[in-house]
Amino acid sequence: MDAGLQRELDDKIRAGERLTYDDGVTLYECDDLAWLGGLAHHVRTEKNGDRVFFNVNRHLNLTNVCAASCAYCSFERKPGQKDAYTMRIDEAVRLAKAMEPEGLTELHIVNGLHPTLPWRYYPRVLRELKAALPQVALKAFTATEIHWFEQISGLPADAVLDELIDAGLESLTGGGAEIFAWEVREKIVDHKTHWEDWSRIHRLAHSKGLRTPATMLYGHIEEPRHRVDHVLRLRELQDETGGFVVFIPLRFHNDNNRLSYLPMATGAEALKTFAVSRLLLDNFDHVKVFWVMHGLSTAQLALNHGADDIDGSVVEYKITHDADGFGTPDKLTREDLLDLIRDAGFRPVERNTRYDVLREFDPAVPLAQRRAEPQAIWA
Ligand code: SF4
Repeated sequence: MDAGLQRELDDKIRAGERLTYDDGVTLYECDDLAWLGGLAHHVRTEKNGDRVFFNVNRHLNLTNVCAASCAYCSFERKPGQKDAYTMRIDEAVRLAKAMEPEGLTELHIVNGLHPTLPWRYYPRVLRELKAALPQVALKAFTATEIHWFEQISGLPADAVLDELIDAGLESLTGGGAEIFAWEVREKIVDHKTHWEDWSRIHRLAHSKGLRTPATMLYGHIEEPRHRVDHVLRLRELQDETGGFVVFIPLRFHNDNNRLSYLPMATGAEALKTFAVSRLLLDNFDHVKVFWVMHGLSTAQLALNHGADDIDGSVVEYKITHDADGFGTPDKLTREDLLDLIRDAGFRPVERNTRYDVLREFDPAVPLAQRRAEPQAIWA
């Protein structure tokens, strides 16, 4: 990058000025990752100090049967396929109870778009999960699923959300976003929920007092300009509603899906994506790294490239685990997570679904003071 332009952008960011679409594209063209990471780290430190947030959650997928066949998906199965499954409500409750470790605060529930399950199943399952685990927040359903519920119930999203909230829904999940730009989306997404409906449903959820996450699936056929467009749409919606709690870049995995021929984003590309997203999204308080999709070492580095939140102890997460051929474990204990955060140089802070602080832990002990100790290696 031209030195003058680099200085100009540096000044703009340090002065807290809002970046443009062109600025975002220029930042992606820059290969000075140390500079980008340093700026993103400056911004995340201004917003969140030395804190890295986590919550103790579990993932629950009620069914992997899906009417759609998205090109990047390793999870969906068709009815009758050998490993297709759909949980009865009592099975879902039994599994959730079995996953309930001490201190669980959130269940993260996403599912396939089941072609024949009736709409009534979904509020019922939330109601029974809430009755069985009253202290646990139910973060459930993507905007794509809410749109699907509109189609199978004949109800508008307004009534769908009211009924789910009444049954115990605390937050939507951030999925179904992928890449909003149509020229990419039309090639990889096989359901009917695009930016217009995705944003409509999150806007509505925010108007009802829910706070929601937003994601972006990167590292497949999109170009950096599509990532910039994606986060700027989210920034504009956030200006309007203020209801997003966190932005989560999700790295595409190329195993067991129709895009398996693509190479995966490198660690450097992942870190650049975290950094540029952090710099563009000036109205988002948090950027989360989901370690299941990035591996533990890249997740630690992401904390130094703009991320300030790391997904918690995951025991049941089938959507990405099926796609992961990289030796990333499918669960971390709370102690593992605390060590991982401290080893990256940060203070762990446990939060709930709404990002209220539940507990602040001791900060990291500087590496210089513990050179003699055996050091963990995070694969
Ligand atoms: S991404 Fe979701 S909607 Fe698309 S095929 Fe997979 S489970 Fe179905």
